[in-house]
Amino acid sequence: MLWHKRLGHPSFIYLSKLQPSLFVNKNPNSFHCDVCSMAKHTRKPYFPSTYKSSHPFSLVHSDIWGPSRVQNADHSKWFIMFIDDHTRLTWTYLMRVKSDALIIFETFYNMVFTQFNSRIQQFHSDNGREYFVHSLGSFFRKHGIVQLSSCVDTPQQNSIAERKNSHLLEVTRALLFSINVPHYLWGEVLLTATYLINRMPSKVLHFKSPQNLFLEFYPSFKPVSSILPLRVFGCTTFAHNVQPNRSKLDPRAVKCVFVGYSSSKKGYKVYHLPSKKFFSTMDLTFVEHESFFQPTPPQGELLSSSEVFSPLSLDPIPLPSSLPDPTLSSPNLPTPSPSPSLSDPPNQSSPSPLRSPTTASSTSKQPPSAAPPLLYGFHFAVCHVPRIGHGFSCPSSGEYCAK
Ligand SMILES: [Zn+2]
Repeated sequence: MLWHKRLGHPSFIYLSKLQPSLFVNKNPNSFHCDVCSMAKHTRKPYFPSTYKSSHPFSLVHSDIWGPSRVQNADHSKWFIMFIDDHTRLTWTYLMRVKSDALIIFETFYNMVFTQFNSRIQQFHSDNGREYFVHSLGSFFRKHGIVQLSSCVDTPQQNSIAERKNSHLLEVTRALLFSINVPHYLWGEVLLTATYLINRMPSKVLHFKSPQNLFLEFYPSFKPVSSILPLRVFGCTTFAHNVQPNRSKLDPRAVKCVFVGYSSSKKGYKVYHLPSKKFFSTMDLTFVEHESFFQPTPPQGELLSSSEVFSPLSLDPIPLPSSLPDPTLSSPNLPTPSPSPSLSDPPNQSSPSPLRSPTTASSTSKQPPSAAPPLLYGFHFAVCHVPRIGHGFSCPSSGEYCAK
């Protein structure tokens, strides 16, 4: 069960493919996990699509999700993902505003060219307006990229992105069930879910993992953090105290929560709650059986604290009409969504920072953004490129403030 938790609650069948030694004389179907039952119960049926072999980056699928009710620690409220059709390797980027999609795609395109000497040939998305802005269209034409999109009201045609989106949120919910994560860490959960999914065997890839299939094409490429042993997300960890002014009587370690794998450093990401700071380090002692945050109440109980994310409910609570535009108000104020998404469980009322991606994208207003787009998080798990503007960590201190 420890490996099941470390890997983000995958199917025991898949786990047996990945770690056969754990299942000697044991039937994978005989295992049961309550968290999986709650997190995956609402999973919508997957429509099988024929997997067509090609080459990495000949076709890339994309989807945008958001806005979340609560900003991530870096003020992100959206995420965009890119999926390589051939290997199903996924890159996830957090965004502050939806219009960051252009600059993120340019970053992704340049990363593909520089790191893998390859060019994206076809780009497939739904009909989201952000994919059809003039500037992105110009970029496609300039670089000879064929833009494909789904027919109106037929999201099934974007099924690979839709399924990956569902899978990401499924793993995200599973991780959230077990750690009761605060609102402002949802992005870290999502990036970790991407990291784990890229390493899990997939049926459509004949039980290879996306990362392993990808590395068959780029065998000399060495992922930054792939050598790190997996750990249980959200567990308590003690980081070595490296304060320069530390006295001999000060503690030698500080208590933190493990929040994922660094995309730019060979180390784990941890969050220090008292100082509200993230940092990456290898000097950690993990207590994997101990969740840093309080356990989630059993299903059916409402959470009383606004600081608690209830993964049971991805459905928003309605706001009185007298309240100001929620997208322009406090980041901690729950925002309404016009209707629940297909993947959300119905008839739930607990506050949640997550909301429907499809309905929100067409009706919400963008908050004013005087500053240039700032990218924070992304996880494509195989290689790592420098972030633009505001990174996970600042070059000098190796950390940033979550406020
Ligand atoms: Zn599970």
